[in-house]
Amino acid sequence: TLSALRGHVQELDGKGYGAYKSLRDERAALDEAGLPGAELRVERVQADPFAPPSRLTLHVPASTAKVPGSERANEPRRRAVADHLLRLLDGQVGRDLHVDAGRQEVLERSAVHLDADGNVTVRLGASLPAAGRKIKGRAAAALLTEELPQAATRSLRWEAIDASAAVATADTVEDAVALRAQLAARGLVAFVADGSVLPRASGVDDRPLEGGVPLEAPETLAVELEAPHAGLVRGLGIRDGVTLVVGGGFHGKSTLLRALERGVYDHVPGDGRERVVTRDDAVKIRAEDGRAVTRCDVSAFVGELPTGDDTRDFSTENASGSTSQAAAIVEAIEAGAGSLLIDEDTSATNLMIRDAAMRELVVGDREPLTPFVDLVRSLARDREVATVLVLGGSGDYFGVADTVVHMDAFAPHDVTDRAHAIAEDAPKPGEPAVFPTRRGRVPRSNSLTPPGKPKVSARGVDALRYGEATIDLDAVEQLVDPSQTAAVGRALRWLADDRGGDDRPLAARLDALDAHLAEVGVHGLAGDAPVDLARPRRFEVAAALNRLRSLAVADLR
Ligand code: ADP
Ligand code: MG
Repeated sequence: TLSALRGHVQELDGKGYGAYKSLRDERAALDEAGLPGAELRVERVQADPFAPPSRLTLHVPASTAKVPGSERANEPRRRAVADHLLRLLDGQVGRDLHVDAGRQEVLERSAVHLDADGNVTVRLGASLPAAGRKIKGRAAAALLTEELPQAATRSLRWEAIDASAAVATADTVEDAVALRAQLAARGLVAFVADGSVLPRASGVDDRPLEGGVPLEAPETLAVELEAPHAGLVRGLGIRDGVTLVVGGGFHGKSTLLRALERGVYDHVPGDGRERVVTRDDAVKIRAEDGRAVTRCDVSAFVGELPTGDDTRDFSTENASGSTSQAAAIVEAIEAGAGSLLIDEDTSATNLMIRDAAMRELVVGDREPLTPFVDLVRSLARDREVATVLVLGGSGDYFGVADTVVHMDAFAPHDVTDRAHAIAEDAPKPGEPAVFPTRRGRVPRSNSLTPPGKPKVSARGVDALRYGEATIDLDAVEQLVDPSQTAAVGRALRWLADDRGGDDRPLAARLDALDAHLAEVGVHGLAGDAPVDLARPRRFEVAAALNRLRSLAVADLR
């Protein structure tokens, strides 16, 4: 019981910090705190005050949580309601309890689970209080037996919360999932509902920009999709094939593209991007000079190198801007990408374009690069890979784009016909080339084992400590949450241990990972070291794998 736990913790007062270890596997019923049937369990105890927080699990049975059946009828609603409850809990606790409540996205998280029967499980961290290296028993008792149960009583019971806000979150997420599910059949890569607010408060604050101009689709680019709660929703449809986004500087091109990148995730109500949805096989591509590339076939983009290297089997410890971007495209397609999102701001210009004058000056075999403009149509036609490209400084794509969107003072306009007419009269920028079908690489599982020591941990969103290696994920822009990064590390380790997959190509390994995640949930990746995890996509797992400098690849047998 809670009183027994209180007694136990208080007895530890004044002892050395290590005595907290005796709390491990302690369980306490929370009935007396007003949560009938609920249980608190201490899963793991930190060794010292500076170690990562201790880990607690809180089970609240359906009979106490009382989440109505309608609010847990499907996965999106369960995920949304669980997310909402977790945010409420986070708002109720002080800084010694660590609730991984997430940011603007509503991701599947290990920190909370609402099952179909209505049982709620919350996993959180607790910094057990100390004075120097001595246990503060009374403070610890207050933390575990008062603060946490009280916070849970106020946030994890349907009867105690503002139910309409929880239902609104569920409706929002279920709508987003439903809108996204319609994209492929409607021939769309993405959809931006009228009224969406795309700009963010700042580069480090992902909340909506106050006073941001809501997006409004022009008639010729407008589509209507059906959402279960919002009904018929009108908005900008980004179509399959090649979409070019043009416009002057500061007119909102990159902001639009970034919203599309994030549209693979669901967002909380009030975010401004609740109804910005992108097919979940869309991958942001960018240049990243300095990264490692392992046995990648970049020959579509890179012909004879001055070094004589074979670009069908290209490895480097230190890629250039253009080869890193070429590799990113090939790797994304290998992992199953169905559309590529590319921004001029983060692209290698020489990979994207080569204008007529330059083609005349530097001819034939003196230029090893085949620019993307020559390949983009083949990608769409032969490989069914769509492209959305932001490019304000060149008209070279006018002739190869199916749709040209002009962002003018944050408003999209359809300028496809005019761009096509201009392309008719201009010299053809280049020769269309064919994007070849590639063999899939077979990663060697033993090369995926964390080098040196087994420890894996996220350093913010953008870096992963992987044994003694650090994987730089700064350029992997669709990783949005540190807990996703942590899960990417776990996923890599799962792939390393999945020795049965040793002779299978990467895409098949990622299929196996997706199947595993669908079965056990993201929490299933935690193993016996509970940490906060959030569900990553296969593309971000692949991106980390591809940046692992120890990666070794066998040929496809
Ligand atoms: P571009 O890529 O066309 O140069 P950006 O997308 O970087 O332009 O946007 C330029 C600035 O305008 C950014 O500070 C951005 O936050 C702001 N911005 C973008 N879209 C909007 C909007 N709809 N309403 C208000 N400000 C916006
Ligand atoms: Mg820009």
